[in-house]
Amino acid sequence: MDRYEFVIGLEVHVELLTKTKMFCSCSTEFGNPPNTQVCPVCCGMPGVLPVINKRAVELAIKTGIIFNSHISNFCRFARKNYFYPDLPKNYQISQYEEPLATGGSLEVNGRKIHFKRIHLEEDAGKLLHSETSPISYVDFNRSGIPLLEIVTEPDIRSPEEGEEFLEKLKQILEYLEISDCNMEQGSLRCDANISIRKKGEKELGVKTEVKNMNSFKSVRKALFFECKRQIEIIKNGGKIIQETRLWNEKEEITESMRTKEEAHDYRYFPEPDLVPISIDDKWIEEIKKEIGELPEQRKERFKTEYNLSDYDAGVLTSEKGIADYFEECVKYYKNPKIIANWIMSELLSLTKGKILKKEEIPLKAENFVEILKLIEEKKITVSVGKEIFKESYKTGEIPSEIVKKKNLMQIEDESLIEKIAQQVIQENQKAVEDWKKGKEKTIMFLVGQVMRKTGGKANPDIAKKTLIEHLNKLK
Ligand code: ADP
Ligand code: ZN
Ligand code: MG
Repeated sequence: MDRYEFVIGLEVHVELLTKTKMFCSCSTEFGNPPNTQVCPVCCGMPGVLPVINKRAVELAIKTGIIFNSHISNFCRFARKNYFYPDLPKNYQISQYEEPLATGGSLEVNGRKIHFKRIHLEEDAGKLLHSETSPISYVDFNRSGIPLLEIVTEPDIRSPEEGEEFLEKLKQILEYLEISDCNMEQGSLRCDANISIRKKGEKELGVKTEVKNMNSFKSVRKALFFECKRQIEIIKNGGKIIQETRLWNEKEEITESMRTKEEAHDYRYFPEPDLVPISIDDKWIEEIKKEIGELPEQRKERFKTEYNLSDYDAGVLTSEKGIADYFEECVKYYKNPKIIANWIMSELLSLTKGKILKKEEIPLKAENFVEILKLIEEKKITVSVGKEIFKESYKTGEIPSEIVKKKNLMQIEDESLIEKIAQQVIQENQKAVEDWKKGKEKTIMFLVGQVMRKTGGKANPDIAKKTLIEHLNKLK
């Protein structure tokens, strides 16, 4: 196997985060009842005229800028003709010879993966096949949603590198709010082109194209399967035929779908219903200004500005919403390390899925910070703080009010803590014996018992001090 080199190029489709569709004003919202977001334009009625969504063009330009692609000053849409039940016009409006952007690259682990092109097109509808009858249904809510197609050069050299490329691409597109890249909802899809060649060879081998992978993991698996399959064929003296293959998720194999002879002839021609797009430098400059920090830049800034470790900065900047939330908290409370620890240990265990916007976090930054202040002022203990954190996350209640309502103030009364400490010593003779024998750690167990008896409210320093005093008397 190591005499061969894998050659992989990816074609990635992402749905753009616009409010409305590519050529009409229907909503792009996901998850509504079928065919409730449709109009004559996106249903392909005769006589209607499409109108270009400016925001979609801007998001495409933004993507080109981020990856250092060449943005065309003039580009056009083209008709890609084919028939399929999810395509009501019998053609898809796409871009062909005049894509919006060409070239550019994304670096993955120090290797540059170059881009061939980035272009705009429209999504098709969605077919829903009945499991109980031979009937299929079609939902046109997706029809006409703006899609960005990003095509790489065949620069990827392993299935792992392919997966990492996708992870990184996804992170950047999410960060800059170009797409939510939700693979389960189909807003990021990827086809892979694969060939193999002997190491050192310059020419490309015959490729196959694999479709139908619906997670990053299945992309990696499919790439691996396909590379191995091709090597086996070559080793046995066979020839690879150019074809499109489908990934079978259940059996974890690729299966032939159509060969080159059966490939469509799309009869592309310039879309006569749309004017060409002219993109001047001024517009590009304006969009450039809109581009915020990229995840890697932000990570480096977090390290220097907040003195965080590489690991902590990486976790905090991996999702934009979390990074924004962290920075909002830092505005109210000047100890970034404590905030970072709480976010990583307490917050991330409560959030589900990606946080793209800090507003998605139900615990308001002010409330979170109030908990940290209450602990700092010794009004509540850390363990009570953690409980309040969960409660305020769930109910939105203000921490100081939860403290009042539930009487959670830290107990500072030394005589009260002393009484409880004595009780704990009486009830835990085994631990006391251990302590006497020199097992110092037992003290933490005993402190824990005092905390339990006080609902986590006793000042743990006082509890520890009192316990040691009393234990020493027993010696
Ligand atoms: P096609 O005309 O078949 O669509 P393109 O040149 O447009 O081919 O390339 C489509 C994708 O296939 C790109 O991602 C490209 O990098 C990749 N690709 C092209 N040739 C090969 C090859 N021999 N092996 C692997 N990938 C390839
Ligand atoms: Zn519409
Ligand atoms: Mg192509």
